[in-house]
Amino acid sequence: MEDLENKLLALTENHHLRELHDVRQEGEGVISKEGRKLINLSGNDYLGIASNKLLLKEFYEEALENDLSISHYGLSASSSRLLSGNHPAYSAYEEQLKEYYNKDGALLFNSGYHANLGILPALLEKRDLIVSDKLNHASLIDGFRLSDADFVRYRHLDYDHLRKLLQQKRSDYNKIIIVTESIFSMDGDCADLQVLVQIKKEFDCLLYVDEAHAIGCRGENGLGFAEEQMVISDIDIIVAPLGKAMASQGAFAVMSKSIQDWLVNRMRPFIFTTALPPVTVHWNSFVLEKVKGMNNERIKLQELSKIFVNGLKEIGVQQQYNTCIVPLIVGENERAVHIAKGLEEEGVLVFPIRTPTVPPNTARLRFSLHSKISSEELTKTIKQIHKLYHY
Ligand code: PMP
Repeated sequence: MEDLENKLLALTENHHLRELHDVRQEGEGVISKEGRKLINLSGNDYLGIASNKLLLKEFYEEALENDLSISHYGLSASSSRLLSGNHPAYSAYEEQLKEYYNKDGALLFNSGYHANLGILPALLEKRDLIVSDKLNHASLIDGFRLSDADFVRYRHLDYDHLRKLLQQKRSDYNKIIIVTESIFSMDGDCADLQVLVQIKKEFDCLLYVDEAHAIGCRGENGLGFAEEQMVISDIDIIVAPLGKAMASQGAFAVMSKSIQDWLVNRMRPFIFTTALPPVTVHWNSFVLEKVKGMNNERIKLQELSKIFVNGLKEIGVQQQYNTCIVPLIVGENERAVHIAKGLEEEGVLVFPIRTPTVPPNTARLRFSLHSKISSEELTKTIKQIHKLYHY
């Protein structure tokens, strides 16, 4: 393993080395690292639910009232869902999802990674094709690699390019599935889901949308960007990871009943893993219901995003979308590390995102906003960023 030592050394020298840091949630939007309290602009708790003690208290009080029923509040499912792990909390949650999304099928998975890794390999065969936005998340790419289908990428958000690829390839394949994130995790920009629905209909394709950074934050009921763009019924598979605004663990997908039933029979990361603990599933139901009524938080998030994007315009942020993710692309890894360190000294936590997570020379600070930050705190942070950026 000597070669590993050398490789690790090279990572360190190139500012690529990743390390784990202990951090502690200190309350709404505040985190502590090495004993210092910092404003957290690096997490994905966009609506502040994960750090909302009142909600937690309400959830646990209800649990006590229900005598900590194991089937809803237990800490282990003790088995996979096809064996004895399918507690009633699962069907309650999936019924709730079907009702909210008006779909015939819904499934809960252990994480967004499991969902994206397993759904497409289960559904697609040889002579099928995946057509993916170039900047889709690594979990989707890993799923493409495991699938027997072919896979091509269109330039990021370039739907003329997507059309061109489909014109060239449509007749060579049976099923074709277009895959996109709705709000992109590293750039904070948005897919045009209405255009994608037109294209999918024009070329008789399926459409798969990952709503990781939109679930909870967008749409009148927090159901995501597809709700906001009024295209839920036209999307074949919507995947929503729950570790971000939904303040939990797991991911759901909504889809047709036949896709749901096929996944239960064939999707390996669904079949061969211990189910999520009932308490997590029940918390997911609780949060889904609460999120419906969080329009004030959603509006505040968009307002904060406007302030932040405007404040960063001067130093090259050209984001036309007011989303919860605002990247500041600074180029080299070293520069991203330097600015992140400077901000931490000033009391703001944001991590540098480096190559290879993002393409070469696009190392960045990925600011993720949350509805608990005040506009004053944000304005102060913008000034600090300006100072460090021009240094
Ligand atoms: N899809 C996207 C777009 C993501 O950003 C993430 C998480 N970073 C995932 C999927 C994976 O979700 P999870 O964390 O639940 O595995």
